[in-house]
Amino acid sequence: MKSHDIRQSFLDFFTARGHREIASAPLVAHGDPTLHFTNAGMVPFKDVFLGLSEPAAPRAVTVQKCLRVSGKHNDLENVGPSPRHHTFFEMLGNFSFGDYFKDDAVRFAWELVTGPWGLDPAHLFATVYEEDDEAAALWAKHSSLPPARILRCGQADNFWQMGATGPCGPCSEVFVDLHPGRPAADWDEGTDNGRYLEIWNLVFMQFDRDEAGELHPLPDPSIDTGAGLERVAATLQGVGSNYETDLFLPILHAAADLAGTGYGEDADGDVSLRVIADHLRAVSFLLADGVIPAADGRGYVLRRLLRRAVRHGMRLGFEEPFLHRLVPVLGEVMGGTYPELDKTREASRSTVRAEEEKYLATLAAGARHIQEAIDRARHAGHTALSGPEIFQLYDTYGQELDTVREIAEEERLGLDEEGYEKLMDERRRRSRAATADLQKRMASLRDALQSKEPLATAFAGYDRHRLEGARVLRLAATTERGASETDVLAAGRTGVAVVDRTVFYAEAGGQVGDRGAIASGGGKATVHDTQKDTAGVYFHFLEVTDGELRVGDAIDLRIDSERRIAVERHHTATHLLHAALHQVLGEGARQAGSLVAPDRLRFDFHHDRPLTATEIAEIERRVNAWVLKAVPTAIVWRDRDEAVQAGAMALFGEKYGERVRTVEVPGVSLELCGGCHVRNTGEIGPLIVTAERGTASGVRRVEAIAGEVALAELRRRQELLREVGAGLGVEAERAPREAAALKERIKELERELAGLRRELVAGRPAEGGESEVAGVRVVAREVHGAPAGELRNLADTLRDKMGSGVVVLGTRGEGKVTLIVTVSKDLTGRVDAGRLVRSLAAQVGGSGGGRPDFAQAGGKQPENLTSMLAKVPEVLAQQLGAV
Ligand code: ATP
Ligand code: MG
Repeated sequence: MKSHDIRQSFLDFFTARGHREIASAPLVAHGDPTLHFTNAGMVPFKDVFLGLSEPAAPRAVTVQKCLRVSGKHNDLENVGPSPRHHTFFEMLGNFSFGDYFKDDAVRFAWELVTGPWGLDPAHLFATVYEEDDEAAALWAKHSSLPPARILRCGQADNFWQMGATGPCGPCSEVFVDLHPGRPAADWDEGTDNGRYLEIWNLVFMQFDRDEAGELHPLPDPSIDTGAGLERVAATLQGVGSNYETDLFLPILHAAADLAGTGYGEDADGDVSLRVIADHLRAVSFLLADGVIPAADGRGYVLRRLLRRAVRHGMRLGFEEPFLHRLVPVLGEVMGGTYPELDKTREASRSTVRAEEEKYLATLAAGARHIQEAIDRARHAGHTALSGPEIFQLYDTYGQELDTVREIAEEERLGLDEEGYEKLMDERRRRSRAATADLQKRMASLRDALQSKEPLATAFAGYDRHRLEGARVLRLAATTERGASETDVLAAGRTGVAVVDRTVFYAEAGGQVGDRGAIASGGGKATVHDTQKDTAGVYFHFLEVTDGELRVGDAIDLRIDSERRIAVERHHTATHLLHAALHQVLGEGARQAGSLVAPDRLRFDFHHDRPLTATEIAEIERRVNAWVLKAVPTAIVWRDRDEAVQAGAMALFGEKYGERVRTVEVPGVSLELCGGCHVRNTGEIGPLIVTAERGTASGVRRVEAIAGEVALAELRRRQELLREVGAGLGVEAERAPREAAALKERIKELERELAGLRRELVAGRPAEGGESEVAGVRVVAREVHGAPAGELRNLADTLRDKMGSGVVVLGTRGEGKVTLIVTVSKDLTGRVDAGRLVRSLAAQVGGSGGGRPDFAQAGGKQPENLTSMLAKVPEVLAQQLGAV
């Protein structure tokens, strides 16, 4: 069975048994601050299992993209050596939300593996939790497994829990013997070496664990199962390793070809090829889900995977970027099943390439820094690099632990990895605290407010800015320290209100939250921000200004209309900009993030080089042309698949429901979007692109302004131009030409002036300031307004002209003096320029130094320059020993 058929057979089997097929959620676990990535099939249903939201159907079946690279599930170190662990893999799962339980779960699993999948019952095992007699009995009832093949295992393997508290329960796993012909092995040994392969885990969510650790039976127990597609494929295709299935072989062969070797030729090389194939999948799927390489967070995980693959490539002999060349190969294998992979292929390829190039360059430079640190440590007699030293290599030079370790091992120097990890943890803690702050605030608010029953807020603010007779459901008082639920908020207090209906848009899809006012019979409050959580509860952050606000109050809500209208202009303008970017730069200019505010918009998109001035002008021109056409916008709810069919631009990595809201500017743009928009593009007014620059690698950022903000900016620029013209004494029209001409004229004058000064100093030897001391000719003069460089040239010219002699030149600026002394070569035995300049500088409040024939000094008393110059012969006489 090909992997594609296995996916399909799983979906078919369970849809035939009343399960609703649900598309894979993105790898990025949205709105879950505790989790970086989706790491199991149940993750998208977490809120359902926690009782926070309703399931779409009582039974579901999914093929879920998973990534296990951090936290509780981290298989990164296993990847390469292990034939059955990946970072990215697909999990097949069937779910019951309080519907069927153990009996059907066991029966379904047995029927599928021995039915459509055709596995020989004699090669199968089932494990159950040691105390779960019920599950053991069900396997005996539904399967043909003899008692010896139904094993009981302990807590570690066969008891599942979501967290320290909450849903948990026993599980039961299906194992396959990959070498049934060999004599039976000890169970622990067989599972360790992979002969007995776990393919499927059935979780029986049966209890709720409370704070004290007590288990309470759940009223409606649930089912969550997970089978790794890659392991099932290896089993059904009769190969000993996931990597020998149709999911991996084409990638391994292509990588081996590029490296000029073969898969299966050498054990170490095979490990590297497997790492490359595995990480290629993880990297590509992360990019397809909108993750961007970065220095922290999810983007950092992506970057580390990519870099690890590059290092393994180097072991295979790659010296040039290679990973990006495999991106299309993965497209061939999986693009049909995952359209997001196909659509992002070109953009991903160029991002991967750019990252590879950057990394190879830092590696080359980095190896040197690491080597230097090692040499220093060894020199100091240390046997290991300290934590701070390793951290500095990372922090200053971007060198990762893996690279440092590799070189240190070769150099036989130890590493204080613990010390390093401590510093890294500290760093991570700080950056996490910053980014998770809002999420945490919302989570604690949710905890504080959702104690009773699930809440929900209906949004009625697309077409209206005002709503009467809504009701306050919950209030929380907020302080520096946190939030606590309350029944009443009095004037002067800040807090959060949850209401049953609202016209306040909560920040989402880049659009900022609304501001405005709330009024009840007994009080008034200003709302300064609106946010919502993943369950759709709206939080109005407010300050009570009059009277008091109480739970249960009937209230009127009114948003700041002008601000909202300005936001709407920028939001629709963002869609137009997105469309123009596609037209001018190509389909690869995919959205990577955006901000829609009342005073500006910011749009990030995938593109691997800066835009040219012509491209920016063309983008601006197109958007403004669509504005001038005054096209009415159309907002329509449709089935998601239909919308995507129609070409709607969806954000990969966003979670969309079955019914989606589409925003269309007919003939121009069609996007899935939940935001607020103008009714007609004509309302947007002028659009100006104000900035363009790079952010993360492969991502550019455009900033723009529209509507009144743009008009104000145009007026400001016009005024600026008028002022420039007035300053130049010409009409604004002629200001640029006039300014250029002036600049040219100034340069010319400077040249002329320098020439004049030279003549002035050098051309009149009879001028004052010249004398003779003990047979040495000396010139001491002030030069007006000459920069230091020119003073040096003048001194040289003068000395050359004299043939033999000493030259002292001084110039004064605001509060400072510059002195130059030159001595002709024949006199350096008698006069030292450095010594002379030092004693002269002392008289103008300064110091200096230099060579015997040339010295320079600075001083702070320009008022003493004239008297100092007059004393030059005297000072020189002292130094020559003559009086
Ligand atoms: P193992 O003990 O082999 O690491 P697990 O107990 O971590 O597996 P579960 O968390 O129960 O696995 O996940 C359910 C199924 O997902 C497993 O039975 C297996 O088929 C698959 N699976 C788990 N981890 C991986 C992985 N890193 N790569 C590929 N498949 C995996
Ligand atoms: Mg595991």
